[in-house]
Amino acid sequence: MDFGSVDVRDTCDGVEGAGRVTAGETAGGKGEAAMEAALGVEEGSGVRGPATVRRLATEGRRGPAVEGSRAPAAGGGRALATEAVHAGRDDLARQGLHAVPIDLSTTYPSYDSRGEAARIDAFATDGAEPAGPPVYGRLGNPTVARFETALARLEGTESAVAFASGMAALSAVLLVRNAMGLRHVVAVRPLYGCSDHLLTAGLLGSEVTWVDPAGIADALRPDTGLVLVESPANPTLAELDLRAIAHACGSVPLLADNTFATPVLQRPAEQGARLVLHSATKYLGGHGDVMAGVVACDEEFAGRLRQVRFATGGVLHPLAGYLLLRGLSTLPVRVRAASANAAELARRLATDPRVARVHYPRLGGAMIAFEIHGDPHEVIAAVGLITPAVSLGSVDTLIQHPASISHRIVDAEDRRHSGVSDRLLRLSVGLEDVEDLWRDLDAALARG
Ligand code: PLP
Repeated sequence: MDFGSVDVRDTCDGVEGAGRVTAGETAGGKGEAAMEAALGVEEGSGVRGPATVRRLATEGRRGPAVEGSRAPAAGGGRALATEAVHAGRDDLARQGLHAVPIDLSTTYPSYDSRGEAARIDAFATDGAEPAGPPVYGRLGNPTVARFETALARLEGTESAVAFASGMAALSAVLLVRNAMGLRHVVAVRPLYGCSDHLLTAGLLGSEVTWVDPAGIADALRPDTGLVLVESPANPTLAELDLRAIAHACGSVPLLADNTFATPVLQRPAEQGARLVLHSATKYLGGHGDVMAGVVACDEEFAGRLRQVRFATGGVLHPLAGYLLLRGLSTLPVRVRAASANAAELARRLATDPRVARVHYPRLGGAMIAFEIHGDPHEVIAAVGLITPAVSLGSVDTLIQHPASISHRIVDAEDRRHSGVSDRLLRLSVGLEDVEDLWRDLDAALARG
């Protein structure tokens, strides 16, 4: 089982990795090749164009990835780039609309209170979206539902349920399992700092066992309700073999946090993950102006999540739903362009004597982590074009020091044990010109 990201500096250990890049050879070559393969561009074709051949597998399907197959739903198996623009919006033209309408209603008038009572009863039974007119904003919202439909299409699941943030989404998953008496969680570090904290502190009454990927099967207990992983992981970009992990989970649901990869690079449901979580605050929104979370999953689990969302109130605002749909339209283009920038920056960092190690995923993507010989705080203080800020996945490039910020809440020993060195910096590469980015990074490293 492979659970490391590509270390583009450490090249002499003889380990063969698909995306391992040797310092001195053109890292952009391999990193970009991995990315292009993920995007459906033929390796070696010299094609830099959009992913024209990545088509979506059967909706809700578990098991092997089915590239080239067609989805059965409306649209007849459209490519990911097409779904990104049209899913959740297919009815608009027939309604004489082009832009997505934003429905800000918190409540919906009804003169049929018997009918409404029946719809509320039905929701209480299985959490299915109430048929007919909406009832109340906490049960569901039409604009948000469009985003959920679109994200489910992109991730290849039956359903998706949106929340006010990524943490609200993870909390809802834990509450669903806790309510069933399945309070034990098996998890692999590193995770995003707050996800780690939520589990370690047992804030929602869950108990966590931290394991290496190879230890998952042995850690499962009768009361295990969830296995939780991130791949690539925040902040080290460690990658996991999701298919092998899903196999090790047996009947316990695997939750894969797909925030870093996005469905453009990886669709965990095709590899056996029952739950795919996003901090939609990141790439799905893509512009640093929306807080949101979403879980893509089968309809049965989605019903339970809607019931928890109704009872606990972590709903997504309709304006955020609108902005997320807008963000999805450009997701494949943004991810591709930012990933090309990131691969080039990773290549330059890998040969820079001021840099000790570079982590760049085999999968590609727009995130880089690198350890420096100097003082990371000085680098943060010295960037100009690059914004020194937590978060990621925006059109502009952000840099942060995980040990100080995103993973500050994790115990220092646990942090270091999971590869989050005090000299590690995390770079979320945006859409600026790569030469401008390098000039800024180069100057900041000179101060580090
Ligand atoms: N998952 C990952 C991988 C994250 O990076 C984050 C936030 O940084 C979260 C979940 C939590 O998402 P949010 O900040 O939207 O609550």
